[in-house]
Amino acid sequence: MSSDLEDSYLLALDEGTTSARAILFNRKSEISGLGQHSFPQIYPRPGWVEHNPEEIWKAQVMAVKDSLKNSHVEPNRVLAIGVTNQRETVVIWDKSTGKPVHNAIVWQCRRTADIVEDLKADYGDLFKAKTGLVPDSYFSGPKVKWLLDNVPGLRDRAFRGEILFGTIDSFLIWKLTGGKTHVIDYSNASRTMMFNIHKMNWDEELLEVLGIPEGILPEPKPSSYIYGYTDSEIFGASVPIAGDIGDQQAALFGQAAFEEGMVKCTYGTGSFLLMNTGSKPYKSERLLTTIAWGIENKVTYALEGSIFITGAAIQWLREALEIIKDASETEILASSVKSSEGVYFVPAFVGLGAPYWDQYARGLIIGLTRGTGKAHLAKATLEAIAYLTRDVLENMKEDTCIRVTELRVDGGASKNDLLMQIQADILGLKIIRPLILETTSLGAAYLAGLAIGFWKNLSDLTSMWKIERIFEPKMDDAERERLYKIWGEAVKRSLGWARILKEAGFE
Ligand code: ADP
Repeated sequence: MSSDLEDSYLLALDEGTTSARAILFNRKSEISGLGQHSFPQIYPRPGWVEHNPEEIWKAQVMAVKDSLKNSHVEPNRVLAIGVTNQRETVVIWDKSTGKPVHNAIVWQCRRTADIVEDLKADYGDLFKAKTGLVPDSYFSGPKVKWLLDNVPGLRDRAFRGEILFGTIDSFLIWKLTGGKTHVIDYSNASRTMMFNIHKMNWDEELLEVLGIPEGILPEPKPSSYIYGYTDSEIFGASVPIAGDIGDQQAALFGQAAFEEGMVKCTYGTGSFLLMNTGSKPYKSERLLTTIAWGIENKVTYALEGSIFITGAAIQWLREALEIIKDASETEILASSVKSSEGVYFVPAFVGLGAPYWDQYARGLIIGLTRGTGKAHLAKATLEAIAYLTRDVLENMKEDTCIRVTELRVDGGASKNDLLMQIQADILGLKIIRPLILETTSLGAAYLAGLAIGFWKNLSDLTSMWKIERIFEPKMDDAERERLYKIWGEAVKRSLGWARILKEAGFE
């Protein structure tokens, strides 16, 4: 191998929900440099979440500059960029000035609950059949509709072709290319509730239902593809942008889960399970059928279960209850008790996602006695994360009849050894934690590397991927089933609570 290739890097831009990161990978897919900048979360009303797209852009550029500076890599040694992003979040900007017309509406934002109720009632089956998605506030389409309905004059401007819509990847690529390229990859497009996942195009009928003109939408492309080149003013080099993929699909790719039936779970703010289902888009009642990635002419599908709140429940213990100072303390605290002694915590702070899909569910802690302490609550929180994961996995197994033999894990909370052991116990499955937990960035880098021939094929990638630790299940089957059954009862009691509040006149 030439020394030139030795000194070559791929840069992943990982634009997450709370921060933008940039990670440089060398040819062996080891991390060579990292930059990270947070951006503010904006909560205009309860349940509403926004980001300022300009802040995201600034954070992303600073992260890239830091990653290069920290690793002493010259920008011209970066052979390609892969972008991965928080999915579903919507930006609309002015085509000529590039200025966003409104803050980005974030995936977690529930402002479109009423729009979604109507869509679900009138067109639920149509959306499900064409997009693989259960209509929910989570997805981009209703957010775009809300903006067109609520920002004065915006729908007219949309029909006049003066504005552009994008998920954050589209927006970043548009900015990176100096406004030249307006694209989205199939995986991100499949989260918009506007994309036909069987025909691989924007769906006219659904756009009509939503009142969105096709002219504002980005061009759908494979996930590994040279979309354009960075404006050299930005980082000091013109670099091909060659990968684009939603964060969860990126993690599946970064876990080298290339075979049908492989499953990963990312434990972050929320948890996201994806199962590679190969070339088949399995239908599911309670899970989402989604596009994992497109490479050349081949599309790989996935079944997905999104759990809205998991790591955020740990955050809540820290920030709201102040029973821990750091998320990792849950491990020591929860280990100090043998069991949660019948305490169950359903962290349905913003409703429940898969497999329940109840936007009116609210959090509950049940089973409290005079003897309950913070250690029980910490343990119940870790267990809740594990139960929610099992809820999704049970559905995956049922829908596909594919035998699952292991779960690959990543994300911030996967560093918690106790959580991983509890997860192995509750699932009765091997949990595999890889050496590089930055699987999202790794996936984006892999895709960019494939597009430019830095790596040749998927087997090249599989041979680079390394395991750090395996957690084997230790709990006996009867105990596992007993605990899981009670969990179902706790969940039942959390469903529909906000509807009761609403009917009683609460905002
Ligand atoms: P995101 O990408 O969604 O912002 P991360 O992957 O960075 O999330 O993970 C952060 C989340 O993981 C936080 O919600 C935090 O509470 C949780 N977390 C981080 N470390 C631990 C730990 N050691 N134990 C349990 N939870 C953790």
